[in-house]
Amino acid sequence: MMPQFLSTRDAGFEEAFRVLLAQKREDSPDVDAAVAAIIADVRERGDAALVELTERFDRVRLTPETLRISDDEIERLCAQVPEAEREALGLAAERIRAYHARQMPRDESFTDSLGATLGWRWTPVSAAGLYVPGGLAAYPSSVLMNAVPAKVAGVKRLVVTVPTPDGVANPLVLLACRVAGVDEVFRIGGAQAIAALAYGTGAVRPVDKITGPGNAYVAAAKRRVFGKVGIDMIAGPSEILVIADRDNDPDWIALDLLSQAEHDESAQALLVTDDEGFGRAVAEAVGRRLETLPRRAIAGASWRDFGAVVTVRSLDEAAEIADRIAAEHLELLVGDPEALASRISHAGAMFLGPWTPEAIGDYIGGPNHVLPTARTARFSSGLSVMDFLKRTTVSRMTPAALAALGPHAETLAKAERLEAHGMSVRARLDRING
Ligand code: NAD
Repeated sequence: MMPQFLSTRDAGFEEAFRVLLAQKREDSPDVDAAVAAIIADVRERGDAALVELTERFDRVRLTPETLRISDDEIERLCAQVPEAEREALGLAAERIRAYHARQMPRDESFTDSLGATLGWRWTPVSAAGLYVPGGLAAYPSSVLMNAVPAKVAGVKRLVVTVPTPDGVANPLVLLACRVAGVDEVFRIGGAQAIAALAYGTGAVRPVDKITGPGNAYVAAAKRRVFGKVGIDMIAGPSEILVIADRDNDPDWIALDLLSQAEHDESAQALLVTDDEGFGRAVAEAVGRRLETLPRRAIAGASWRDFGAVVTVRSLDEAAEIADRIAAEHLELLVGDPEALASRISHAGAMFLGPWTPEAIGDYIGGPNHVLPTARTARFSSGLSVMDFLKRTTVSRMTPAALAALGPHAETLAKAERLEAHGMSVRARLDRING
């Protein structure tokens, strides 16, 4: 199973690279109509719709009273988590908390030369909803990556929705909710969970912001409720770009590439190297590892269909290529990774040096693992405390400041033909002028 091999020395490189960048990796069937109907149903019938849809999609019979997972039940399930997992989860939560606490922005206030005091203050959203996928796999790490920044930002009420197919809840997901300080957990999923968080039902009080990954139904529902509530982003399939020189173990690079390829058949793993022979050696190592990897069907399909090895003339060229790819995850395994990093602007998260496999960032490094995909790192960033904060500007004029600025405001108001605007200023100026 071989990926594509490209070289910037080849005449056809530009064309082939453009095709690679333009690949549509997401197979999104048209789910929007189904999602629109589900949202309308939840808005109209509330809990009754949630109960019915949960029975249909997750095969669980609930009542309005059992939509929420009780604290006792959470406690009971959490007790099943083995000690090693409990410890690892606790350490991860602590590190994510410490990292995100440093992201908290400061309020500002200053008085300018006219005596006007101006500034801004940051306040958290009052309530946030976190979607935790639960259909095909469980992601306790995603719970921490979403819930911890929300709590660090000061969100008072944090609600999780997680589907429990056939009534099976994941104990580690619930423990992650508890460790992160989640206040309420509901066993609902899909578009109906997003609708409940956005509009509220009898059992679920609405929130102001919804974050968290999910399948195509969840993504379509988040798009639809945006505006009524805030959302974080619509994340696509995972990606990794590794830039490595020949002084690396090809097997390590192969495993790093596979760590993203195993997420999804549509994931993308790319290697950029200045040594063609090394690139071939990595591809061979990927092939060897794929023979025994448990998720070889998924990882193999991703590597075959979307993987690529790009040989460049120099690391300068590698930096240029990296900016054009704007990868979600970028590993730099070269002699001076800091120097190379300083030449690259567009990437969701960077991992420097041979001792920083991307998987450390997925779980326990501290930075967030919810990151921009599909080249959106050109204009956006990973999840942070900022996603749970908003900014309010603050202004205070003195009579002197108003006397200096007011006439200009009046002029602009007249130009816009907004008489009351101008008059509200003029009334005060007249008082100041006696
Ligand atoms: P999920 O919780 O997202 O979806 C399950 C729900 O989908 C069900 O409860 C049901 O309500 C709904 N659904 C399923 N079939 C439906 C249908 N025919 N009509 C209407 N609704 C339907 O769980 P999942 O399916 O396992 O998907 C998880 C997704 O999250 C994957 O795509 C995974 O790649 C992604 N993910 C991404 C990240 C990230 O950081 N980018 C992290 C974790 C998971």
